[in-house]
Amino acid sequence: MRKGSIPENLNSVTERIVTACDSCDRQADTVTLLAVSKTRPAEDLRVAYNAGQRHFGENYLQEALDKQETLADCEITWHFIGPLQSNKTRDVAEHFHWLHSLDRLKIARRLSEQRPPELPPLNVCLQVNIDDEDSKSGVTPEKLSELAAAVAVLPNLQLRGLMAIPAPRGANDDQRTPFLQLAELLKDLRTQLPEQPLDTLSMGMSGDMEAAIFSGATIVRIGTDIFGSRKR
Ligand SMILES: *Cc1c(COP(=O)(O)O)cnc(C)c1O
Repeated sequence: MRKGSIPENLNSVTERIVTACDSCDRQADTVTLLAVSKTRPAEDLRVAYNAGQRHFGENYLQEALDKQETLADCEITWHFIGPLQSNKTRDVAEHFHWLHSLDRLKIARRLSEQRPPELPPLNVCLQVNIDDEDSKSGVTPEKLSELAAAVAVLPNLQLRGLMAIPAPRGANDDQRTPFLQLAELLKDLRTQLPEQPLDTLSMGMSGDMEAAIFSGATIVRIGTDIFGSRKR
């Protein structure tokens, strides 16, 4: 449940990031706050934008494209974080700066082919199904290395790192386990692909942000604690 206004909530989330970074000797500016604005009207994004927020994450393509049009005057960095079907890749290739949920080579190839030449490469994170849950998308840890190698050579994608949505564990300490596993997988990839700028761990949501930051998150994806609770 949202307690304050959007600017107040942004302030308190930012304070939580600073506190979490302090407690594990990290610099607060190594963590980017991604405001997850799915289901929220464009006016809410504008309020957050006017309070200084620049990175926004969206899950539903048509909804996101509508908001981009409404907010065309804003200098927003747009992240697509939801599941992506192969018949929708063109919209992501043409209208986003980042994709966090890449988990199939077929989708990666299409995105690279469809990325307009005048745009810089699309930044991508590979989504890892870290808890091996049937209900979640993502590549398995076993198949990650093969997918990463294939994505790394695509000309119009920039492989930046990994994303995961682990199952909730309750205790903050237990929640660190899957995040630390993801961090370890990224370390392995850096050894495997030393030429790639693998600097991104997209992990941590409203409920488990602190555990993610402790484990090395560089992007935290926060919806509820900024914009309030959602129905979907
Ligand atoms: C909705 C969503 C979030 C934000 O979750 P909250 O619990 O509202 O902070 C983060 N990441 C992904 C992939 C999401 O779909």
